[in-house]
Amino acid sequence: MSTSLLWFRRDLRLDDQPALDAALARGSRVVPVYVESGAGRWAEGAASRWWRHHSLAALSEALAERGSRLLLRRGDPQTVMATLVRETGAVEIHTNRLAEPPGCAGADSDQLAGVPVRLHGGNLLNPPELPRNRSGGPYRVFTPYYQRVLGELNPAPRPAPTALPAVPGDLDSLRLDQLGLLPRQDWARGLAARWTPGESGAQARLERVVDSILAAYPEGRDRPAEDATSCLSPHLHFGEISPARVMLELQAAVMAQRDTRQAAGARELVRQLIWREFAHHVLLHFPHTCEQPFDPRFGQFPWREDPVTLAAWQRGETGIPMVDAGMRELWHTGFMHNRVRMIAASLLTKSAGIHWLHGARWFWDTLVDADLASNSLNWQWVAGCGVDAAPFFRIFNPVTQSRRFDPAGVYLRRWLPELSPLPNALIHAPWEKPALVQDRGVVLGRDYPRPVLDLAVSRNRALAAWKRLLQKA
Ligand SMILES: Cc1cc2nc3c(=O)[nH]c(=O)nc-3n(C[C@H](O)[C@H](O)[C@H](O)COP(=O)(O)OP(=O)(O)OC[C@H]3O[C@@H](n4cnc5c(N)ncnc54)[C@H](O)[C@@H]3O)c2cc1C
Repeated sequence: MSTSLLWFRRDLRLDDQPALDAALARGSRVVPVYVESGAGRWAEGAASRWWRHHSLAALSEALAERGSRLLLRRGDPQTVMATLVRETGAVEIHTNRLAEPPGCAGADSDQLAGVPVRLHGGNLLNPPELPRNRSGGPYRVFTPYYQRVLGELNPAPRPAPTALPAVPGDLDSLRLDQLGLLPRQDWARGLAARWTPGESGAQARLERVVDSILAAYPEGRDRPAEDATSCLSPHLHFGEISPARVMLELQAAVMAQRDTRQAAGARELVRQLIWREFAHHVLLHFPHTCEQPFDPRFGQFPWREDPVTLAAWQRGETGIPMVDAGMRELWHTGFMHNRVRMIAASLLTKSAGIHWLHGARWFWDTLVDADLASNSLNWQWVAGCGVDAAPFFRIFNPVTQSRRFDPAGVYLRRWLPELSPLPNALIHAPWEKPALVQDRGVVLGRDYPRPVLDLAVSRNRALAAWKRLLQKA
């Protein structure tokens, strides 16, 4: 009987797992392995490592329940696979494509240790190089990409097998704790309180989305105080659930209920899933965009070196409540609501004029859903230098955004308890009326920072820099 290695990377599930299905279909013995390789460009950040520890624990358990066993090995994949091929006599390696640029943890290769690597497509709805536009090139604008992809989708996820072949007992595995993924200092309690990494956590979240979030999603998705978005991004990033499974469940919910609000919610959520696809399409065709601007003019942009403002932004101490609330949510839970990500990123890149890569790197280390394709695309989108980006002159006003999307200040008070005594009229921009704020017992500069920048002055400075760039180009 031949042996296949099933190489788990960011596809930590058994449901709708094409690499597993293909290995089983060969009628071969299947040896599941996870290789901890550590370094490389964009090596995983601390929050992602925390997530992966728990996700690997859940995967090990699910494999053991079906009679198999996950081998954990450490080292360069080439060397580890060579050893495993020698130990098992494997003739093939199966894994799901990640399609990241060379040198990144998610780079793919079609040969390892002299054995063919069969790359499967379970992490995306569409192969990332597709579709092509009318002139045969990649898409650079989301809407036509979305319309094209939407018309071609036909998700057909396959269920997890109920039993798996046994793995020979003489094959060594490290213990999970030997991978050293958990932080030495226990800063991750907030993450543990919020998330359930692993396939069953992902499925439970999807059930909740279908049962109670979908109908209100189109309006609710912009209100950070509410539990109104799927929160599937880390589960999707680690491949604990396939996008095809998500899509099929959304379609099934719409068919079962025939409710127009559910249908509108499902449509909007699928649109977001296709943003995720678009991010992978862009990174595959323009791999330099994880470090360089897509719009080459921005290579000349006069970004400011301002370590004081950067540190205030990172710590959630800018004195601008909506930004600080988001940055503290990020620090405590490894997540930030999408609307707030846009506001915080706009403040850093446009108002403070700090290079988007400083922000992207901070998100990389602190987000549990840190994803090279989505993070790069979105940072460049906000900074105005990416594919189909928001024009540079569209600078978010964090106060207007705060009043509009968190009018009762619920999100602000959750993450900035020191501002809780303030009424709604003062909480979004306390610096505007410092005396009234002080009357409520909040002293700016003592209980809460004064703003690190003047929003009007910084807006003018950003627009002037942008106009100079246009004149040079
Ligand atoms: C500056 C910035 C950085 C970001 N970095 C990341 C990142 O590293 N990883 C990441 O997954 N998302 C990133 N996003 C996109 C977005 O904020 C998150 O995907 C979303 O907040 C996740 O929450 P959710 O699962 O509840 O999303 P939902 O609204 O429920 O959307 C469903 C799914 O669609 C996908 N999605 C939604 N919005 C986007 C988007 N704008 N781009 C790509 N995919 C999207 C996600 O997989 C998400 O889980 C970033 C956005 C910004 C503005």
